[in-house]
Amino acid sequence: MIRVQAVAPGTLGAELGLVPATELLAIDGRPLEDFLDWEFLTADEQFVLRARLPGGEEVEYDIERPEGLPMGVTLEPPRIRRCANHCDFCFVDGNPEGARAALWIRDDDYRLSFRYGNFATLTNLKPWDIERIVEYHLSPLYVSVHATDPVVRRWILRNPEAPEVVPQLRDLAGRGIDFHAQVVLVPEVNDGVQLERTLADLWSLGAPILSVSVVPVALTEFSKRHLVRELTREECRAGLATVDRYATRAVAERGVPWCYGADELYLRAGEALPGAEWYGDFEQRENGVGAVRYLQGRIALARGRYPDLAGKRIAVVTGTAMGGLMEHVLQPLTAETGAHFEILALENSLYGSSVTTAGLLPGRAIQDALRGRRDLDLALLPAESVNDDLLFMDDLAAQALAAALPMPVRLSYDFADALVEEGVPA
Ligand code: SF4
Repeated sequence: MIRVQAVAPGTLGAELGLVPATELLAIDGRPLEDFLDWEFLTADEQFVLRARLPGGEEVEYDIERPEGLPMGVTLEPPRIRRCANHCDFCFVDGNPEGARAALWIRDDDYRLSFRYGNFATLTNLKPWDIERIVEYHLSPLYVSVHATDPVVRRWILRNPEAPEVVPQLRDLAGRGIDFHAQVVLVPEVNDGVQLERTLADLWSLGAPILSVSVVPVALTEFSKRHLVRELTREECRAGLATVDRYATRAVAERGVPWCYGADELYLRAGEALPGAEWYGDFEQRENGVGAVRYLQGRIALARGRYPDLAGKRIAVVTGTAMGGLMEHVLQPLTAETGAHFEILALENSLYGSSVTTAGLLPGRAIQDALRGRRDLDLALLPAESVNDDLLFMDDLAAQALAAALPMPVRLSYDFADALVEEGVPA
């Protein structure tokens, strides 16, 4: 059963009289479990919907839906599938005490993998889920493979029950499902020969494995550091060398690099990032693969439309990972606008200095850095560091932060969105 959260006016849902708290029970007699059922089963032009109105009355609607007419129904958020694993590097274990409830959820949900590109391990799939993936053609899925050797993978996931991933992928691939895979690289566990084996196994699955990213394990001050450590610079270099070997082969045989090192792997290795063209459609950008080149591309896209900001002092807040690269990224903006950009690469006061990404910066660290800065005309804050409710990781609201600072602030993904008035095309 799923429940209506909101109905947009002027849509079919509103015309039918669906209201918030209506329970959507079945389509053509088939019970509705979640948003996937709702979306796929209501895609037909004709169907019968059984629903229970908030007053308890059950109603059957015989619906004819002209093509393109939206149902206009927003559902209550789905119950997230919980994770069956206990990885040593799990971000949940790296949370500080008192972090908000949502940060303690270990989600491992193939539905969100399809919808939002969240990585899932596929270790909690029931036979029914597999049939659904195939029936609804949930493709591509984003899968945390980590290692294809079943023993090593079970060790990484701390899940002795984890099914073998290669047969799982092969079976689904044979039924039309494609994948983006990731390997979180853990020193002395799935690097070296294990990484070789993993990439070889994934390569042998052929075209359905669309891409593989290799991401260095990330830990916070609170992670289980007695069980897992970060990669050294040399280990990052060795990992990149393996990635490069497979990418070179893939370019020769398939015309695309296929296997990508995350930006963080290059930064930690002290090696230069590949050019933007390497990343194609930036399919694993959300996983930190090509994010820097993508950002540079976004800045360039708005060239000629930036305002004259000569004489303005603008702070750019970021995490320490991007601190060293940001000057280079901002050069074209400085040249075009005449502004003086001051890079504030902040340490993460919530998770510890090992967490270097801008997306996890707490609001209070930003507040502390900017509170006394009356010399600034504007501060640009990383938009990815707030959630949909505009709260930072430490629950500080963006609005409260703005009110506490002496300069105007803007949340920005790519500078162009904050500096060019009419915006830039997505
Ligand atoms: S798969 Fe591992 S890292 Fe991901 S939520 Fe589960 S325990 Fe955490």
